[in-house]
Amino acid sequence: MKTLLGPILHRDEYTRWIEREANGWLDEAVFAPLDAAMEDERLNENDNSFVAAALIAGTIWYAAGVFGGEFDSKISRELRMFGATLAADGTFRLPDWKLTIPLRSAIAYASHRSRYAHGGVVTIADTILDNVKKAVLGIGAALIFLRILSDLEIQSRLALDHRTELPVAIGKPVSSAAQEREFDDRLKKITADALEDLKKKVADNLADGGRPDKLKAIVAAWKTKLRSRIATEAEHQAAIVVTAHRRELARRLGISEYIWQTMEDSKVRKCHRLLNGKTFNWDNPPVIDDRTGFRGNPGDSANCRCHPRLILTEAERAA
Ligand SMILES: [Zn+2]
Repeated sequence: MKTLLGPILHRDEYTRWIEREANGWLDEAVFAPLDAAMEDERLNENDNSFVAAALIAGTIWYAAGVFGGEFDSKISRELRMFGATLAADGTFRLPDWKLTIPLRSAIAYASHRSRYAHGGVVTIADTILDNVKKAVLGIGAALIFLRILSDLEIQSRLALDHRTELPVAIGKPVSSAAQEREFDDRLKKITADALEDLKKKVADNLADGGRPDKLKAIVAAWKTKLRSRIATEAEHQAAIVVTAHRRELARRLGISEYIWQTMEDSKVRKCHRLLNGKTFNWDNPPVIDDRTGFRGNPGDSANCRCHPRLILTEAERAA
């Protein structure tokens, strides 16, 4: 007689637990010093010229006879007063030789501040890079992995529904310490690569005129992208724990086969939908990526929510 065991799911919380810790680290070790460096460059706006203040703050800029950026009524009025004319494309035109001395110095000052701000970001990126490479991150990932493992153990007991005595500490063979090290290394690598990328983008922006508003946008977009990479990695790390646990549970119970089970919703990828309900052997998994021909068990590919339904046979139960 064959019994189908209940599912052991990769619950969303697992990823969230890892992600939360990783984001906490990111905020403290990477974003806070970066923000502080940007904050240093925040420019006081107690200037009596709106145009000069906007130039310095980077909301407007001047190059080759053209003022570009965001003009409010005060700035527009002042620019007209200086003799600038509004062009059809929304910029103000004022030839170089018509610039007043205060405007000239504001432009020069803005350009100086901008170079300084760009340099500041690159310097702090280097410092963070150094710290990330040197230090143990110490985000306590081992504890989170243990927490996931104990939840998986509860899931396993429910899946077995007391049909079989579950070996004590089924999840323990997955070394949370080893995985913590791996996660640490991955996080370092992702962050270091991202910081190199940021330095390049900042340097490019400086070469491109060094507009401070663009610098801010670059840093903001970069932060979003890094957060999303960390989220992907958290998902991946959680999947490793879950799939290893399922495999270990099957091994302990002497189960060699499982039925492929998808979430049966519209998000399931086509090639996994075709596997739904079919029986496979752990050691001879099906192709799970049509493009690469990669073979694997449920949960082995990125963002795969499929899970194996373990088949317990009478003989195995007696064993
Ligand atoms: Zn899947």
